Amino acid sequence: MSVEAVTARIDAYLRHLRLPGAFAAYRDLQPDEGQLRFLAEVLAAEIGSRDTRRLDRNLRQARFPVLKEISAFDFAALPSLSRQKVDDLAACTFIPAKESLLLVGNPGTGKTHLMTAIGLEAIRKGYKVRFTTAAALVNDLTLARSEMRVPRLLRYYAGFDIVLVDELGYVPFSREGAQLLFEFFSDRYERRATAVTTNLPFAQWPQVFGDETMTVALIDRLTHRSHILLLNGDSYRLRHTRQTVGRSRLQEGGAGM
Ligand code: ADP
Ligand code: MG
Repeated sequence: MSVEAVTARIDAYLRHLRLPGAFAAYRDLQPDEGQLRFLAEVLAAEIGSRDTRRLDRNLRQARFPVLKEISAFDFAALPSLSRQKVDDLAACTFIPAKESLLLVGNPGTGKTHLMTAIGLEAIRKGYKVRFTTAAALVNDLTLARSEMRVPRLLRYYAGFDIVLVDELGYVPFSREGAQLLFEFFSDRYERRATAVTTNLPFAQWPQVFGDETMTVALIDRLTHRSHILLLNGDSYRLRHTRQTVGRSRLQEGGAGM
């Protein structure tokens, strides 16, 4: 690398690290070529260690229940799912575009696996990610309302580039819970990306949310500018259990599902 290139790199590093004093001063010190190369190496090391620490911090803050990788996903088990579509989503361009991701399908088909794996890719790309379940989110919001700090909680979640909401629709909500959840999704709509897993076909959503009009508005917000992955097939877990313990034991109730 030429001296000019090393100098350009030092300038970029110092800007990136926000060190304006050093930026203004280092040329005046008339460093020789060896000193310039040394300085560039030191700054590169600082940037590398900051990046690593940031990734570690973001991974802790994401609170993933399990760490899953897309490479561990067996696409052959779910032929109707487009691998290309999953790979495109793993590139995470939908996050800065503030779009939504919906993973819809039966229990055990890999919704949580794929959603958290995409979340992990997002962290590797430097995005701030937060995993939660719909039930935990409703609890959080309900508590926040009783303490009159819903806006603060929404601001907390708005600090994440993408929130992953697992298991929407497994548990019916109270009217208040449904309204708060609606508020949450409305707050993120077109401002931040959100991902949701659900086992519920849209037609059944009003039963879980109680209010038909609000449910229609909610589905509207979630599906506008969204990507939908349909995971319809046999439960991978169940199939795996069948292979291991055999069908007969399962039928006797030997494998608790
Ligand atoms: P869901 O959220 O749809 O109920 P999960 O993502 O929790 O399902 O999947 C259940 C278990 O089976 C997890 O351990 C997951 O890693 C695994 N699994 C599901 N589908 C696949 C698949 N196609 N390839 C590899 N593992 C899978
Ligand atoms: Mg799940």
